[in-house]
Amino acid sequence: MTERRDAAPPTGFSLTLGRGVLYVATLACLAFAARALVVGAPPWPLAFAVLGAYLGLVTAGVVLMRFGMFLPVVTRGPRGAPGVALTFDDGPDPGHTERVLAALAAAGAKAAFFVIGHKADAHPELVRAIVAGGHVVGVHGYAHERLFALRGRKRVRRDLARAVASLERITGVRPVLFRPPIGHVSPAIAAVARELGLRAVGWSVRGVDGWSGARSERVAARVARGLGDGAIVLLHDGAERGTHEPAAVRALPTILETARQNGLGFVRVDAWLSD
Ligand SMILES: [Zn+2]
Repeated sequence: MTERRDAAPPTGFSLTLGRGVLYVATLACLAFAARALVVGAPPWPLAFAVLGAYLGLVTAGVVLMRFGMFLPVVTRGPRGAPGVALTFDDGPDPGHTERVLAALAAAGAKAAFFVIGHKADAHPELVRAIVAGGHVVGVHGYAHERLFALRGRKRVRRDLARAVASLERITGVRPVLFRPPIGHVSPAIAAVARELGLRAVGWSVRGVDGWSGARSERVAARVARGLGDGAIVLLHDGAERGTHEPAAVRALPTILETARQNGLGFVRVDAWLSD
């Protein structure tokens, strides 16, 4: 596959904020342990406080993927890059995905769809419709487990490799983009993403549109506040659970019009990945 070349993971060392903080904290803990060996054990409350703070930091790194503690993640376009990148998670869903595609086509906008593997297998024609519309398809896990970040490397590999294989079989192109389920990145998820040549994509603006009580006017207003050059917008074309229509489906025409009125174009987020 010629796409394999593009799929190469970033091999260069990249010191993200999260990784730098992790290194400093790890060194500090090692120094604390070394000092304990030399001058004797510290008081237990202090030892527990240090251990607790370290575990808290690692947990924050897993949950807050934008800090890139375990995996570099793209959360905005490069400095000065014009346009907005729309992204849709948790589809494909019959009915909803088609409406999103129709709205995007009417506005001449291209976007990225992070599809759930088992839904893609159930509705391959929708995945092919996404690609036919000029959009890019990315990996969002096969099962989309809530506790994915607590799984071991073997199970993570089985899930993500299955999602990659499904999308490659359906579209004929090996996917490169990856949005971790729930947006959590554990060391195991980071390692497997590197193995599979996946590039993590986060967001700078959240629609908060996926839950069943979300209102489209509020979603449109929330996204409008964050629209600007370089923004990556997180929306949904499918419900994470169930089949309700994500509020983004109805909010999308307003979002597209707001962007147009502000002179903002639309960019596929894969255009913002550096090599
Ligand atoms: Zn999701």
